[in-house]
Amino acid sequence: MFKKILIANRGEIAVRIIRACNEMNILTVAIYAQGDESSLHVQLADEIICVGPRDVQQSYLNKTAILSAAIATGAEAIHPGFGFLSENAEFAARCVECGINFIGPKAEMITQMGDKAMARQLAIKAKVPVIFGSLGMLKSVEDAKRTAKKIKYPILIKAVSGGGGKGMRVVEREEELEMAYKTAQFEAQTSFGDASLYMEKYILRPKHIEFQILADKHGNVVHLGERDCSIQRRNQKVVEESPSVFLSEKLRQQMGDAAIRLAKNVEYEGVGTIEYLVEESGLFYFIEMNTRIQVEHPVTEMVTGIDLVKEQIKVAMGQKLTYRQKDIQLTGHAIECRINAEDPFNNFRPSPGPVEVLFFPGGHGVRIDSALYQGCSVSPTYDSMVAKIIVHGKTREEAISKMRRCLEECIITPIKTNIDFQYEIINNEDYISGTFDTSFIPTHFKKLNN
Ligand code: ADP
Ligand code: ADP
Ligand code: MG
Repeated sequence: MFKKILIANRGEIAVRIIRACNEMNILTVAIYAQGDESSLHVQLADEIICVGPRDVQQSYLNKTAILSAAIATGAEAIHPGFGFLSENAEFAARCVECGINFIGPKAEMITQMGDKAMARQLAIKAKVPVIFGSLGMLKSVEDAKRTAKKIKYPILIKAVSGGGGKGMRVVEREEELEMAYKTAQFEAQTSFGDASLYMEKYILRPKHIEFQILADKHGNVVHLGERDCSIQRRNQKVVEESPSVFLSEKLRQQMGDAAIRLAKNVEYEGVGTIEYLVEESGLFYFIEMNTRIQVEHPVTEMVTGIDLVKEQIKVAMGQKLTYRQKDIQLTGHAIECRINAEDPFNNFRPSPGPVEVLFFPGGHGVRIDSALYQGCSVSPTYDSMVAKIIVHGKTREEAISKMRRCLEECIITPIKTNIDFQYEIINNEDYISGTFDTSFIPTHFKKLNN
């Protein structure tokens, strides 16, 4: 049993992890950057340690400082949360070298899956369908042109190390390819420190449906159902729900089986997510695997009743799963809205600053994951996601009504947030009827400069 865990993150996910540890009687160490000492995760942890100045490279991404903090405080394990070092293979390897348990899969797994072109190959090997695209990474503009001819336009150029919806370019015809290739290369290099690209056929109006996986170190793997994350802005998720209204029991089983097959094939350990794009016809394709806890994990927790962070910690300690696939039942319907400190009416510009009045909704079937408190200040240095509102209802209709009511009650001022934008989505007819795909926000909110 771990006695002490260091949380290498901040914000709501750090708070989420501290809460799980607390309930498991595990002591917590919070790390923080200078200027971030009043953050909630720092106030809730048992021990705190400053790991560097405000600049994230020198603090939340500073591997040496974080490892030193773990050693100095006697933490046996590090939970990386999401973002930051959560998908950094070098960090995972260095934890092991320091005798510290990295709560996540082995470094080699992060390397394999973090390379999205390689992940496609692994999926093919596991007989999981992938989108028609390049075999491995593109070698040159010429190579890209040849590949695009085979795939047929429109195509999508993607960063091999991409994430957060960044580094993608849709190309409609050959004349545009060279320019798109070069800008994508530049963006990939500056965002991910890796300019490598690959290519996929651009699928028109797909749904994004992903499966949550939980695997122990003894070869047992279960999936915890799906999440529909089709409501996206700039390829980044905005609203997520479980289950997906689109999936028949048969398709759910096929996609779940495929996800388990891939996880078993690569001998995956820990929590992970297999992301798919699904066409109207029901054809589905693997797009990537995220080797960490995800932002939207609470919707799965609401419908399965399983605490994913606790399970993640237990499997990291070497415990066997206590569930078999048949024990996993999805009950009711859960929806999550990501609340960001940003101004939808000013091109979604981040809106940091002090929070003078804060009121979070409550009531039956409502969960708030946030690091906000009245009087806190939202820093411009970090991600603008400040809260997640998650609701659980008996039916999708009930969950939607609950979310509508929650968004009406919620007050976060005077900073600007996307609460009203979320309200528009939840009240939209196509959202309510369940007839939506990844083109939902771009087509319904054209005026907002998506
Ligand atoms: P998913 O988990 O569904 O893949 P994202 O790719 O949106 O969703 O999640 C990772 C994102 O979360 C990153 O793009 C990053 O900007 C953001 N992020 C990372 N760390 C934090 C944090 N501590 N608090 C809030 N947001 C964060
Ligand atoms: P990231 O690593 O940034 O999360 P993903 O590969 O998971 O990137 O893709 C993010 C989103 O981009 C998808 O959910 C989908 O909306 C869109 N997308 C990705 N690949 C394709 C594709 N081949 N065709 C159409 N849309 C795509
Ligand atoms: Mg993704």
